[in-house]
Amino acid sequence: MLNPKLPLKSKIHLSSPHMSGNEMKYIEEAFQSNWIAPVGPNIDAFEREIESYIGDGHAVAVSSGTAAIHLALLLLDVKRGDTVFCSTLTFVASANPVLYQGAEPIFIDSEPETWNMSPKALKNALEDANASGKLPKAVIVVHLYGQMANIEEIINLCAEFNVPIIEDSAESLGTFYKGISSGTFGDFGIFSFNGNKIITASSGGMLICKDKNQADRALFLATQAKDPALHYQHSSLGFNYRMSNIIAGIGRSQLEVLESRVLARRCNFEKYKKALASLPGIQFMPEIEYSRPNRWLTTFTINEKESGISPTSLMKFMLEENIEVRPVWKPLHLQPLFQGCTYYPHQEGGSVSEQLFFAGICLPSGSNMSMEDILKVINLIKYTIYNHKRNDDHIVL
Ligand SMILES: *Cc1c(COP(=O)(O)O)cnc(C)c1O
Repeated sequence: MLNPKLPLKSKIHLSSPHMSGNEMKYIEEAFQSNWIAPVGPNIDAFEREIESYIGDGHAVAVSSGTAAIHLALLLLDVKRGDTVFCSTLTFVASANPVLYQGAEPIFIDSEPETWNMSPKALKNALEDANASGKLPKAVIVVHLYGQMANIEEIINLCAEFNVPIIEDSAESLGTFYKGISSGTFGDFGIFSFNGNKIITASSGGMLICKDKNQADRALFLATQAKDPALHYQHSSLGFNYRMSNIIAGIGRSQLEVLESRVLARRCNFEKYKKALASLPGIQFMPEIEYSRPNRWLTTFTINEKESGISPTSLMKFMLEENIEVRPVWKPLHLQPLFQGCTYYPHQEGGSVSEQLFFAGICLPSGSNMSMEDILKVINLIKYTIYNHKRNDDHIVL
């Protein structure tokens, strides 16, 4: 096989910003009209455009996805002494706002079918909580890497115990289940426009509320909770969480091209899958039936026994070639920050998220990757696995 270790022109990123080319138009408009503030026409328009794209709910533009989760918890009156159930296989920002409120996160394992929150583990956790007379104030469910969780079962379980759902859709804008957008199933949904997400405004987030009054309250809390008075009068604790009008302009221009970005990422996934799925020990992240995932990141697990190479060795070889790969998120229940928090595994003695963390790899998945980039990644993986197998065989002989 041809050695793909040729001099590399530039780094292949995991997920880098991909501008539409229209951003400056919105930014220039903002400058010309002097709306250089966390208030202005781009913000209102961006909210309405997001509502129209996702087809439901009331949007509030904020400074980050993390701020949006924090606001959802504030609206649900989460405070010290409360518990909140969280997906464990996710980025830390899913659960940090629980700590901001002095509440206690309880972590729920993944299921093998979706890699997302296990309905089985959630059921156990809800039943235990109910028996002890202390149900969680909310369940924060993530749609990891743009793939839907088993949202129907999770909704049914939460409805049974009357617990509100916050969908952490930071990675899943453009993902639909049975034609319905992620982020609109729960009482609240959140999106992120950080630099590595499927579309980016350089930073920023969006809170989606089912209820218009909740959206009004979120806006109030996100803009320092000023009571209606000419002088500065405050009776609630507020935050400086509003999105800026410049950022909203970038977001609007990015939203125009979201569908094409989803198609490009799905196309990356198809190419990787076609080339690599038949290799021994490689399994791509599954997707739930009736969903249209955005495939934000293409991820797979590699079984060391079957493939002959450990996930860490494979990642090391790729990083040496200037190809940015990452392990799957480290489960939050294993993070020192959350030491001592309760954890519900998918089954007794079988932690799915831990297995995924030890075996999972995220591949470069940007919508701006060239065919050449994708082939370079594919060939390097094939070459590395092939060589390892050959060396192993040699040792055995
Ligand atoms: C990026 C991300 C967030 C946080 O969004 P920010 O806009 O960066 O604050 C939250 N949850 C998940 C799963 C994310 O990937």
